Amino acid sequence: MPYSSLSHLECSATGERYDADQVQGVSAAGKPLLARYDLEQVRAGLTKEEVASRPHDLWRYHEVLPVRDPAHVTTLGEGMTPMLPLPAYGASIGLPGLMMKDEGLVPTGSFKARGAAVGVSRARELGVRAVAMPTNGNAGAAWSVYAARAGIGSLIVMPVDAPEITRRECVVAGAELYLVDGLINHAGALVKAAVEQRPGYQEVSTLKEPYRIEGKKTMGYEIAEQLGWEVPDVILYPAGGGVGLIGIHKAMQELQALGWIGEKLPRLVCVQSTGCAPIVDAFHAGLTESTLVEGTHTLAFGINVPKALGDFLVLEAVRESGGTAIAVSDETILAETTALAHAEGSWVCPEGAACMAAARELRESGWIGEQERVVVLNTGTGLKYPDTVSVDVPTLARDGVVPRR
Ligand SMILES: *Cc1c(COP(=O)(O)O)cnc(C)c1O
Repeated sequence: MPYSSLSHLECSATGERYDADQVQGVSAAGKPLLARYDLEQVRAGLTKEEVASRPHDLWRYHEVLPVRDPAHVTTLGEGMTPMLPLPAYGASIGLPGLMMKDEGLVPTGSFKARGAAVGVSRARELGVRAVAMPTNGNAGAAWSVYAARAGIGSLIVMPVDAPEITRRECVVAGAELYLVDGLINHAGALVKAAVEQRPGYQEVSTLKEPYRIEGKKTMGYEIAEQLGWEVPDVILYPAGGGVGLIGIHKAMQELQALGWIGEKLPRLVCVQSTGCAPIVDAFHAGLTESTLVEGTHTLAFGINVPKALGDFLVLEAVRESGGTAIAVSDETILAETTALAHAEGSWVCPEGAACMAAARELRESGWIGEQERVVVLNTGTGLKYPDTVSVDVPTLARDGVVPRR
């Protein structure tokens, strides 16, 4: 069996087929392209036992990833992140079986590394000279780092407000970095114009190239594998561009085609911030697309996306899986960050904390039942957002004393 069973690309809106062995952006209709595989071939030639015997990274699913030649695999050890039970915190919000898939442990400290590893590997295989992207920070950091490892260039544009650490990650990896006084959509326009001037550069904005989502879908494969090839009842995901959510849904459909999971699909919850909730609003208004929101703001920077190219795919995945969409405030995010760290020791990113807050609210409203198996995605480490915790402690004199208790 070949290393990859990639067969072609397909327009996510019209189903039109595209050659997967050419560098591709979006479809003629301007919509995201999705990678398709010969799943019959994989079904006949690969067993769950074989997968179980492989190294613990996302490349263990290489038959359903797009890289054809393992020589192009660019890896820093991403994937197979822990699935942690949260007994104390879970019990406190009425969900004793709550689990967290902790993406804070991947290289670059956010799950963007999954998309970057697969996207950069495939770009390298197809002969791309440099990748170019707008970013809210974490994606730019991840793509710069993987591009460096692959020996290709990177051009990154991010808002001046993006977390400062992510600038440093780009710079240390040798990226060509620019800041813009605006939001990610402004950065996107700048990148688009630059790429038109530069031969050999590929624009790799969210869902404007087909392979980032392939990296992110491995979260879905891992969740199923880590639960013994069963799916949870509910998965909560903090959606910006929504790639991870669309990817997890795609993974579940592929797993069904492989016969590795049954009929049941996890109900997918799209979590956003009240400061930027275009997809949540569209969901509750019964729309199939979102509307651009002006003046968005949230400390959960990774989900500050005023209008996502794949919004219709997120809405489709949420509806098809029987899921829902919910927005939470920055105040709740901060409170949840501390509550979780106090109870379990884990410092999650604000986007992850947003999902915890959403789980609490959906349990309170009865949308999630007490005995349900619930997985929250923590998409990054809290260490990348040091300002979410303020420290107000006494300083002791050298000859002072620690107060008695
Ligand atoms: C990018 C990002 C998200 C949102 O991911 P999308 O795939 O754009 O929906 C969530 N959390 C963190 C930490 C991120 O960096």
